[in-house]
Amino acid sequence: MIEKIVIANRGEIALRILRACRELGIKTVAVHSEADRDLKHVRLADETVCIGPAPSAESYLQVHSIISAAEVTDAVAIHPGYGFLSENADFAERVEESGFIFIGPKPETIRMMGDKITAIEAMKAAGVPCVPGSDGPLDSDERRTLAMAREIGYPVIIKAAGGGGGRGMRVVHSEATLLNAISLTRAEAGSAFGNDTVYMEKYLENPRHVEFQVLADTHGNAIHLGERDCSMQRRHQKVVEEAPAPGIDEETRQRLGERCAEACRRIGYRGAGTFEFLYENGEFYFIEMNTRIQVEHPVTEMITGVDIVKEQLRIASGEALAYQQSDIEVRGHAIECRINAEDPDTFMPCPGDITHLHIPGGPGIRVDTHIYDGYRVPPHYDSMIGKLIAHGETRHSALMRMKTALSEMVIDGIRTNIPLQMRIMQDEAFAKGGANIHYLEKKLGIN
Ligand code: ADP
Repeated sequence: MIEKIVIANRGEIALRILRACRELGIKTVAVHSEADRDLKHVRLADETVCIGPAPSAESYLQVHSIISAAEVTDAVAIHPGYGFLSENADFAERVEESGFIFIGPKPETIRMMGDKITAIEAMKAAGVPCVPGSDGPLDSDERRTLAMAREIGYPVIIKAAGGGGGRGMRVVHSEATLLNAISLTRAEAGSAFGNDTVYMEKYLENPRHVEFQVLADTHGNAIHLGERDCSMQRRHQKVVEEAPAPGIDEETRQRLGERCAEACRRIGYRGAGTFEFLYENGEFYFIEMNTRIQVEHPVTEMITGVDIVKEQLRIASGEALAYQQSDIEVRGHAIECRINAEDPDTFMPCPGDITHLHIPGGPGIRVDTHIYDGYRVPPHYDSMIGKLIAHGETRHSALMRMKTALSEMVIDGIRTNIPLQMRIMQDEAFAKGGANIHYLEKKLGIN
C-alpha cells in the first residue's frame, strides 16, 4: 500500500479522501490556499502545505506548487479529487514525470476522454451505445452537413469536441439556422477551449441522465457498480442524485454495466470512472466519461457497500480489485441532496460564518461535509458545503428518511438550499421517480 499521499483538493471531498487514508493507514498531506487554513481536513492531516493565495488559479490549480508539496513531504501519490486538476491530462502527466503516482487513469486516457469525439469513437468501438450523429468532426462541406442533419432528423445539437461544464453546445431546430449555429459554436469553442472542432448529434428532447460507475485495476480487471439517476439538474448542474435509477431492471443494468466494464478493459482504463448516458424511451445514449471520483459516488457506496475511494487508493497501490462482478449486489435505495451555501430562491452564493450547526442522524443517514460550528465558508470556491445521503430498504424509505434528515438539519448564519431540497423531496413527480432532466427547471419554475 502507498505510504503517503497529497490530497490536492479542498472541502468535503478532501475530508472524504483523508478518512479513507486513515482507514488504510496511509499518511496524508493537505495542500491548501491561504483562505483554507481552517478546513477540517487541514486540521486533521498529518502534514499541511500552504500552496498559495485564495483564488484557485493561484493555489489549487498551480501544478508546480502541488508537485513541490509532494516533493518536500516525501509523498508517493497525489489524489486530485473532483474539479480543479482532476481531469487535466497535462497535470497527470507532470505528476507521473515527477515520479509520483497519479490516483486516476493514465494521462493518455484522460486526454482521449477529454475530447468528446475521440471518446465517442472509443466507446462505439467497444460496443457502448452512442447518440446518432456525425461520427466525427464537421468539415467545411456545407451540402454534406445539411444532408447529414436531414438524415439524423431535427432537432440536432452542435457540440464542441473540447467542451465541458455544459458550455459549447447549441440546439438547432430547423435547417434555416443550422449553418449559422455551426459557425457560432465553432467561434465560441475556439476562444473558450482553444479548439474549434465541433460535431453534430441528434438532440434528445426529454431524456433522463443515467450514469454507470466503474472500477478498473492495473491487472486487466474491470467491474461496474450499477447506475445512478442524476436527472434533477439546474443549468446542467446536478442537484439530487439517486441509486439505483428508478425503473431500470436488473437485466438492463447488467447488460449496460458490462458494456462499460468491457470498454474499460479495452482501453486499459485504471481507477474509478463514470459513463454518462442520456436515457430516453428505454434506450441509452453515451454522452461522456468522467475519469475521476464524482460528487455523487456515495449513493453507489450505500447500495453496494463498496468504498469507492478506498478502491481508488488500492488500485493506485497496484492491488487487484477485491471484488468480482458477482460480488456486487444492489441493496435498497439511496438518495443524495447536495447542500449549497446559496439563497434557495435566487441561487446567489451565500458565504459567511456558520454560527450554529446541527447535523441529522438516525438509521441510513450519512452526511459528508467539512463544515463545523464556527466555520467560515469562504467566498472563493464552489458553493457546495456538503451532501446529505439517505439509504433505505426501498426508495420510499430512503425518501422518508431524507425528509426527516432535512427537517432536522440546522445551518445558521448563512443561507442554504435546504428549503429547495425539501421542496424537491415533497414533489409528487420526484416521489414517483423517473422525471427527466428538464423537470426541475420547468415544473418547479426555477432556472
Ligand atoms: P459537458 O461536458 O459540458 O457536461 P455533456 O456532453 O455531458 O457536456 O452534456 C451536458 C448536458 O447537455 C447533458 O447532461 C444534457 O442535458 C445536454 N445534452 C448533451 N448532449 C445532448 C443531446 N444529444 N441531446 C439532448 N441533450 C444533450
